[in-house]
Amino acid sequence: MPDSHDTTNLFDARGAANPLDILKRVYGFSAFRGQQQSVVEHVVAGGDAVVLFPTGAGKSLCFQIPALCRKGVGIVVSPLIALMRDQVEALKQVGVRAAALNSSLTREEAVAIRRALSRGELDLLYVTPERAVTDGFAEMAADIDIALFAIDEAHCVSQWGHDFRPEYRGLDCLASRFPGVPRIALTATADPHTRDDIIERLALNGARVFTSSFDRPNIAYEIVERDQPRQQLLRFLSRFKDASGIVYCLSRAKVEETADWLNAQGIRALPYHAGMDRALRDAHQDAFLKEENLCLVATVAFGMGIDKPDVRYVAHLDLPGSVEAYYQETGRAGRDGLPSEVWMAYGMADVIQRRRMIDEGGSPEEIKRIERAKLNALLAICETAGCRRQAILAHFGEAHPGRCGHCDTCLKPVETWDGTEAAIKALAAVYRTGERFGTGHVVDVLIGTVNEKTERFGHVNMPVFGAGKELPARTWQSVFRQLLALGLISVDHAAFGALKLEPEARVVFRRERQLFFRKDRPASGKAARGQKSAGARQRSELAGSDLELFERLRSERLSIARDLDVPPYVVFPDTTLIALAKQRPRDFDDLLEIPGVGESKRERYGEAFLAVIDAFEDGG
Ligand code: ADP
Ligand code: ZN
Repeated sequence: MPDSHDTTNLFDARGAANPLDILKRVYGFSAFRGQQQSVVEHVVAGGDAVVLFPTGAGKSLCFQIPALCRKGVGIVVSPLIALMRDQVEALKQVGVRAAALNSSLTREEAVAIRRALSRGELDLLYVTPERAVTDGFAEMAADIDIALFAIDEAHCVSQWGHDFRPEYRGLDCLASRFPGVPRIALTATADPHTRDDIIERLALNGARVFTSSFDRPNIAYEIVERDQPRQQLLRFLSRFKDASGIVYCLSRAKVEETADWLNAQGIRALPYHAGMDRALRDAHQDAFLKEENLCLVATVAFGMGIDKPDVRYVAHLDLPGSVEAYYQETGRAGRDGLPSEVWMAYGMADVIQRRRMIDEGGSPEEIKRIERAKLNALLAICETAGCRRQAILAHFGEAHPGRCGHCDTCLKPVETWDGTEAAIKALAAVYRTGERFGTGHVVDVLIGTVNEKTERFGHVNMPVFGAGKELPARTWQSVFRQLLALGLISVDHAAFGALKLEPEARVVFRRERQLFFRKDRPASGKAARGQKSAGARQRSELAGSDLELFERLRSERLSIARDLDVPPYVVFPDTTLIALAKQRPRDFDDLLEIPGVGESKRERYGEAFLAVIDAFEDGG
């Protein structure tokens, strides 16, 4: 294994190295993707940039390559110490001289890094935002050449977003302390508020803004009505063999229970939430990164900055906080561009719970209004009868023609029905019973259930009693959920979940607004049937012996990764193994044609993987 001083050889010709050359020799890719090249050229030339690309678009190269092209070290501001190690390791693997300066280092390690820095022996240095704004850092940096500052996860500067980190607010000082050093801020958050905050808070007014489509074409979307959540989850997970993914739950208790239950069902699952002991939590995160077949059950505390490229699925057992949060959380799937699936089960209880959390939360009324609007936007996506992808992208102001063919509503169109009359009956039942009762009771009144409660309140004698008996209770539940999503009714938590009419309901009463509802699917989960599993689809790119070879390459990768104590994808991503299995290179020259094989990795692993291919070709 070459040690670190060998890696300098790669850049002996740095003066002459151009971005494309570095892309090929270091990273093993033959072409830039999308706007990568424009960003790289802009920053190499000394310009500031704000880069808004979705997860998996390849933001890292947008700052790494300019850092390698320019004189001096690139400083990368990144929020999570726990993940710096893997990022640095991945860079070392491709021969880049990288280090992370943070509080987890021993004194000796920190001294060694400072020494390397002052000698100009580092290409990239990762630091936390807290450190980047200290005087100590400024003093240290004053004596060295700095190629650029990259501010990763830049949306953390915005209070509007969901990952607000006050430490990011101080980073505007980099502009005044280091005039002339280009700064590049990167995020996968798409909404205009966050973008404006980044520009303003980080003093990037003169920066060029690069945006790309936020569509994630390799992600399949599915949202189902919650019925038997655990069984539904199990059915979803059964589509994935030998794959890792994330299951999000709202509460810590639910995370623990769900993980226990999955283990009892024979699915290897680990919990992750902020209430856990730190060491255990880090251990679970580490296992998730390094193992190839693990389900991580987590609260939203998990995920930011996770670079794991082969997350094959993300499931939500509870409604996320907003469309932005949903997009971010589901976006953790399929960073490598291979087929991945995201799934959510939601029901009326979610809507009521989220509304309560907002209403009873400590935020000022103005913020609550924003939160309610955000929730409604998400509900609209849950209840849409149209293409989910189109609805999600529309939320970010991006037009999509719809019919993506890769979401549940496109794969199996939902029927709609004219629910105007039903809505009038439902609203009337709420009104006539005095806006004092929750969904369960109002549905009982509509379908004419004689029970203690309907009798005690005299509801059995009202005209609305049984007025809706032509529809089953389940359909009425769905009607109320959609009325809530449409903002025609609200839930009063102070009155134990009583349904109330919203002013807009009047328009429906007057028949001035026609309503179309989604027809809920039968609760059998049949929608999933006929869909190929992501694992199967990924490998369907590979047939017969290619697939067999892929599995052997995979086990070689795993054993190398275990020896090095790094995640398997740090050795090679799946995309590289797939190309190896298909193209079957026989020598070192052929190897460089494989995407993801640069000079350094060829040195390190070329022989081992060629040996696997040789043995396979020789019928071994
Ligand atoms: P982001 O930070 O935008 O989520 P990454 O930088 O992690 O994305 O890149 C996602 C994946 O795409 C990585 O596996 C990376 O190696 C790969 N990638 C990036 N740029 C290219 C390219 N030009 N050609 C091929 N693969 C690329
Ligand atoms: Zn669609």
